Amino acid sequence: MAEIRSLEELQTPDSTALVFTPYGLGAPMPAERSAEFLQQLVAGCEIAPGVAEGTRREFDRLQRLFAYGLFDYDVFTVVDDRALLVMEQALRERFIQWCAGAVAFEDANGLEPPRIEPVGTYDEVLAAVKKLGRRNRPRQQPSPHWQLKAGRTSIDFNGMLAGLRAWARAAGLLRGQRTRGIEHAMSHLRNAVAHPTSYHRTTPVEAARTLHDLAEFVNQLWGHPTPGGRLYPAPVDRDVVVMAWNDEGSIHMAQADALRDDTGAEGFLYILILSVSRPGSQYEDPHWAAFDTRFETTQFPSEYLWGPGSRSEALAWLDAEQPTGDTVDYLDRVFMLREHDGQLYPPMHPEVAAGLTEEEQRGTWHTVRADFPQHAFSHVRGLNGNPGAHSRTGDCKNCPAHHLSSGSHSQALQAAEDLIGVVVPRRPPTVQIPDSLSWPHRF
Ligand SMILES: [Zn+2]
Repeated sequence: MAEIRSLEELQTPDSTALVFTPYGLGAPMPAERSAEFLQQLVAGCEIAPGVAEGTRREFDRLQRLFAYGLFDYDVFTVVDDRALLVMEQALRERFIQWCAGAVAFEDANGLEPPRIEPVGTYDEVLAAVKKLGRRNRPRQQPSPHWQLKAGRTSIDFNGMLAGLRAWARAAGLLRGQRTRGIEHAMSHLRNAVAHPTSYHRTTPVEAARTLHDLAEFVNQLWGHPTPGGRLYPAPVDRDVVVMAWNDEGSIHMAQADALRDDTGAEGFLYILILSVSRPGSQYEDPHWAAFDTRFETTQFPSEYLWGPGSRSEALAWLDAEQPTGDTVDYLDRVFMLREHDGQLYPPMHPEVAAGLTEEEQRGTWHTVRADFPQHAFSHVRGLNGNPGAHSRTGDCKNCPAHHLSSGSHSQALQAAEDLIGVVVPRRPPTVQIPDSLSWPHRF
C-alpha cells in the first residue's frame, strides 16, 4: 500500500529541485528563491490571442503545475511528457478551425471525383478518413488513392500526428526549414511518451524549454511568430551599419553613427549596409565579414546601401539620405546557385541572379529554399558529393533545405517565380569585402 504522507511532508521542498539555480547545478537554494526561480523559467511563454480554448487551457495548466516540481521533482517529467501530447491537441484544434466545417479529398489516381465531407469535430475528421479508406476497391483492380486537399497541394493524411504535421506545413501554418527537422524530432518524442518503454526523468531546465517550444509552436500555428524565438522567430530588425576594411585584412563593423568619430585611421574603405548582425545584436553572424553585394554570403540577409568610399563621403551620404533600419524575415528564403566548370558558387538572391548577363548565366542552376545560404550551399554540394543522400525534389530528407529545381538559368528562375512571384532583375554594383575564407569562389 502507498505510504500516506502528512500535509507537512507534502509541503516539504524536494531536495533534488533545490540544486537547480540560475547559475546551473549548485548548492541547494533556499526554497523561497527556488520557488521564484522555477516560475521565472516558464514566465516568458505566453499564448497569443485567438488560440483555441482547449489548447490554451492545457498550456496554462502545465505552466501552473511546473512550479509544483519544487515539492515533487517528478512533476517536471510529467509536465514535459504532457507538453508533447498537447502539441497534437493543438494541431487537431487548429485543423478544425482551418477546415471551417468541411474537408476536401481528391483521388490522386483520378478514378473518382473529389469528395467534400462535412466535419465539426476531430472525431468526425477521423471517421471521414476511415470511411474513404474503406471505399478502396479490391486489390486486383485500380483503386482510388485519397488525399487531403491542403493549400495548393494534396497530401496523404490518416489523421494521425505525422499527417497533421504534413497538413500544417502544406497549409503554410508552420515555417522554417531548420525547424522542420525539430518538428520531426518532437513528434518522435511524443510517440515515445505515448508508448513508453522505459522509465525516464526530466530536469526542470529541459521541461521549461519544452514549454517554451510548445508556446512557440502553438502561437505559430495560429499565425503569431515569436520575437527572438528559437523555432519560429518573428522578423528581425536590421540597422544601418558601416563596414570598413583595409589592405592589411583588417575588417570592422559598427553602427553607422561611429562614422562621426574620426579615429585618424588611414587606408580604409567604407560601405554602408543594412544588417541584422549589428554590434550588440543577439544575432551573431559568423559570416558578417564576408559581405558581397552580388552573393548571399552573410548568414542573415544584408542589403547594400552605399559605397565604397572614404569616411567623409560615407558620412556625407548618411547625413543627406538619413537611411533608417527595417525588419526582415530570414526563414524559408529562396536562393539560386550556379554550378559551372566544376565549381559551385555561393547562393544568390533571385533578383540578382535574374540581372546577370548571358555569359554569367551559363552552367547549371539550382533553386533551393532554406533559412540560411550555408544550408542551401551544403545541400547542393551534397547532391553531387553523395548520390541519393540529399533529395532532388521537395523537402530534403537529409538537411534543412527544400529543393525546388535544377536545370538552366531560366528554369531555375521560373521555379523561384512559381513560389515567390515575379522576380524583378537588379544589378547592384560589385562590392565585396576581400579575402573571404568561408566563400572563396565568386564570379
Ligand atoms: Zn539536402
